[in-house]
Amino acid sequence: MRTVTVVGASLAGLYAARELRAQGFDGRLVIVGEEPHPPYDRPPLSKDFLTGRAGEGRLALCDAEETRELGAEWLLGVRAAGLDAQARTVLLEDGRAVCGDGVVIATGARARRLPGPRLAGVHTLRTLDDARCLRADLLRGPQRVVVIGGGFIGAETASSCIALGHHVTVVEAAPLPLLPQLGPELASVCAELQCRGGARLFTGVGVAELLGAPCTGSAEPAADGPHANAPRVMGVVLRDGRTLPADVVVVGIGAVPNTDWLSGSTTAVRDGVRCDDGVLCDDGCVTALPQIVAVGDVARVGGARAEHWTSATAQPRVAVRNLLAGRTVERADPLPYFWSDQYGSRIQFAGRRREGDLVRIVEGSPRDGRFLAHYERDGITTAVLALDMPRPFTKIRRELARAETRDPAPAPAKAPVPVMGAVGGS
Ligand code: FAD
Ligand code: NAP
Repeated sequence: MRTVTVVGASLAGLYAARELRAQGFDGRLVIVGEEPHPPYDRPPLSKDFLTGRAGEGRLALCDAEETRELGAEWLLGVRAAGLDAQARTVLLEDGRAVCGDGVVIATGARARRLPGPRLAGVHTLRTLDDARCLRADLLRGPQRVVVIGGGFIGAETASSCIALGHHVTVVEAAPLPLLPQLGPELASVCAELQCRGGARLFTGVGVAELLGAPCTGSAEPAADGPHANAPRVMGVVLRDGRTLPADVVVVGIGAVPNTDWLSGSTTAVRDGVRCDDGVLCDDGCVTALPQIVAVGDVARVGGARAEHWTSATAQPRVAVRNLLAGRTVERADPLPYFWSDQYGSRIQFAGRRREGDLVRIVEGSPRDGRFLAHYERDGITTAVLALDMPRPFTKIRRELARAETRDPAPAPAKAPVPVMGAVGGS
């Protein structure tokens, strides 16, 4: 391979670039990124960046020296608009094209939005620009913040807003936040964490509409960024008829994989880069074309899409190895792991929990705000969750990973299936 193009200049894209160099690729490396910023870390956006404990300088994922050493051509602030998969040519929105021999797709995901007109004071939180706007809005003094969605973004943002002195209500459509990830027993413990932390939590109720103040014609402060001249949000109407007054609304209702640039590209689809809730890959991150791999939030690897930091940093090593080998020689199937910092506590989870697994608290207690819980099936630990117990958690996480190496989890779908799947993730 003489030229490899990495599309997406964030976490997974940067790790893929690093791996290409680490694994001996010394050809032309082009990195295309829609955002104007060099790679930065997203986890602090909902935590220390929002509260002001960490400034923008702490977000950078690579310094000037590493950037130089990578020897890549960075095309930032330009969106890839299509892919000619057979020719491995990435078409850019500004009309340029990058021809190459291999492509790494690392375009991540974007925040899902609520339908309806745009209102000032309504935010999503995915990018640095989103976080800047939200932070500026929150600095206007104590306000009534309604957070829609009680998942990761919702809980972390609510916690940060409370730390900043706002009155916070969280609205979660599911019976409990984080139910699919943690199961009912431990999801309810996390819900309690939110309530004890000072948030008002409404569960099992969706949002009907957002209310905007009648437009007065006067511009809102610049803090509201692109929606500065839109009417400002004043309330959230729930599906059960209640209305929550709101000065600021944060929408954290999930993420959508960024595959629209591929699905609009008939050649990519015809040639085998298929999308259905992500880019379909085999369990080595390889698409139907061995010269094209996908990593991070956008990649549906062996049938599943992981949306966590550790997967985005672990997949690139395997994806690049397979890309350079020209076929799948290794599986990318690390033990799932995520953490979340909220209300002064750290939640850590690792393993492969399944519906119906037994939950056993093995150390500490939820009442004391520190505990270690095992998920078990047939007497075997399948996953572990800790609240502020990092050491014992890490020990069990390592044991679970070791056990998997000895006795690998059954391989999920091997081929990039389904060939007849719907195209596009938007
Ligand atoms: P992304 O980070 O989404 O990056 C994709 C990049 O591709 C973006 O810069 C995007 O602009 C660019 N792009 C998209 N389309 C195109 C295109 N057509 N052309 C060119 N470029 C394009 N995970 C954890 O495990 N723990 C945490 O505590 C945690 N906290 C988080 C907090 C926040 C606020 C957010 C948003 C996420 C958090 N995550 C956390 C998740 C983690 O950050 C993601 O899993 C990770 O960022 C995925 O990396 P990625 O590179 O695959 O995708
Ligand atoms: P998420 O974790 O999927 O949570 C979204 C929650 O909002 C779900 O519980 C969902 O319920 C609920 N919801 C959906 N529509 C709703 C509506 N109309 N009204 C009220 N609730 C609604 O997604 P997220 O929190 O927005 O996070 C976005 C992405 O960032 C994810 O990829 C996430 O993994 C990542 N992230 C990760 C971390 C971390 O790992 N610590 C931190 C921040 C962000 P249903 O499930 O019933 O739809």
